Amino acid sequence: MAMTLSDSIQLIKTNKTMTSFNIQSLQSELADKNPRTILKKALEQFDNIAISFSGAEDVVLIDMALKISNNVSVFSLDTGRLHPETYRYIEKVRKHYQIDIELLTPDRDVLDAFVKSKGLFSFYDDGHQQCCGIRKVEPLQRKLTQVDAWITGQRKDQSLDTRQDIPEVQIDSAFSGADRTLVKFNPLLNWSSAQVWDYIEAHQVPYNELHEKGYISIGCEPCTRAVLPNQHERVGRWWWESGSKKECGLHAANLKD
Ligand code: SF4
Repeated sequence: MAMTLSDSIQLIKTNKTMTSFNIQSLQSELADKNPRTILKKALEQFDNIAISFSGAEDVVLIDMALKISNNVSVFSLDTGRLHPETYRYIEKVRKHYQIDIELLTPDRDVLDAFVKSKGLFSFYDDGHQQCCGIRKVEPLQRKLTQVDAWITGQRKDQSLDTRQDIPEVQIDSAFSGADRTLVKFNPLLNWSSAQVWDYIEAHQVPYNELHEKGYISIGCEPCTRAVLPNQHERVGRWWWESGSKKECGLHAANLKD
């Protein structure tokens, strides 16, 4: 059964020291700490750790991490359906920071069979879960079997329905296996969108040009649209679907019945 943060004694072995520590005490130590402190702890604690970069404002994680360590591993999901602006942006970030960004792509055979049977826009008819499962979740799952921990740009203010309870550090119950425990750090969780943008401006961090066109939350091109002033950012994602619990499966543990 998947482990949760509420497990009283949760021991994790890092590949760095092969020592164990308690996830709850780490969470207590990091609670309400600033993003840099959380990120620093994550990078100290794990050698085999990677930052998930979505091609949007979570670039601040890369900027901060590179000021802590010059050995930072970054990956991004290339679903094949991103905006041209996002592809240009990923390349811009790669060059700006002189880093490798590993692009995770869907399984070719599975994707071919899916497109052959359902076409390129089936999500408008029967929901985004299957397409997200093939283009995002499975490639991520593959990647996460190779690391001991990952770092996400999740923030509480991105969703009142699914992201209010995320902690600074947690066992990733969605991607841990029967014989391995995966740890997830969420350094930006308590920052608002305004704080992220203050950082981007203050540190001259490159940003996705879609933000200048009214986009806030940026995902795949067919499933993302600009929002009006004062509309919540999540309104621009999978807008044809009813319900407020809009997650693509990358943070499935956030979803509760
Ligand atoms: S966001 Fe849309 S295009 Fe992208 S993987 Fe999900 S359903 Fe497919």
